[in-house]
Amino acid sequence: MKKRIVLLGPPASGKGTQADRLSLAYGVPHVSTGALLRSECERGTSLGLEAEEWTGKGLLVPDELAVRIITVWMAEHGPSFLFDGFPRTVGQAIHLDEALQSTGVPLDLIFLLELPDAEIRRRIEDRLSCLKCGATFAASLHGFSDGVACPRCGSPLVRRNDDNALALDRRLEVYKTQTMPVVSYYGKTAPSKLFRIDAAKGTDEVFDSIVGILNRH
Ligand code: ADP
Repeated sequence: MKKRIVLLGPPASGKGTQADRLSLAYGVPHVSTGALLRSECERGTSLGLEAEEWTGKGLLVPDELAVRIITVWMAEHGPSFLFDGFPRTVGQAIHLDEALQSTGVPLDLIFLLELPDAEIRRRIEDRLSCLKCGATFAASLHGFSDGVACPRCGSPLVRRNDDNALALDRRLEVYKTQTMPVVSYYGKTAPSKLFRIDAAKGTDEVFDSIVGILNRH
């Protein structure tokens, strides 16, 4: 079984949903750097307050901060992982390669979840999130409105402060200029490990595509 997996993709492409399901199915721990940062922010830690200056505007936090938070997570969780939202810049990807090289275990697979901008905007407008456990829900699908209790942990569901039109424009721009180069980076350094997935399909179909690839490799 492949145990070191990266999920790449634009906002709302379903990385978190798929990571949750894969983590449950394969017992590999999942982490979303965005959710980690929101949880720090919710708890008012100095790291969270530092991060909010960037996340609230739809900008990436500096590499140093993202690397710091993922390094702590890796030290606590060991050598298997499913990353959602990391690496998000070529600098972070190089850092991850170096960190893995020093432990002697390579990255196994990279999945790129592709979704057109119009569908990203539609999903974000409809999205409610739990700032405590990181779960997200399509409001219209579940009949939820702001403030209802998270079905998973009971905290109130809210609209994320970066799920607004202005911050989203910025996030899409940032994705194209800073994260798409990560796709090219893996295309050059690990072409046989990079797989493109059509994320406009339903969650079950997307999950089945990923599992199909996982089982073949
Ligand atoms: P989405 O999936 O909607 O893009 P995330 O929850 O993954 O959102 O991330 C939310 C925000 O957290 C990002 O817009 C960015 O500001 C910050 N962030 C998350 N991961 C990273 C990272 N690896 N490097 C820099 N900033 C990050």
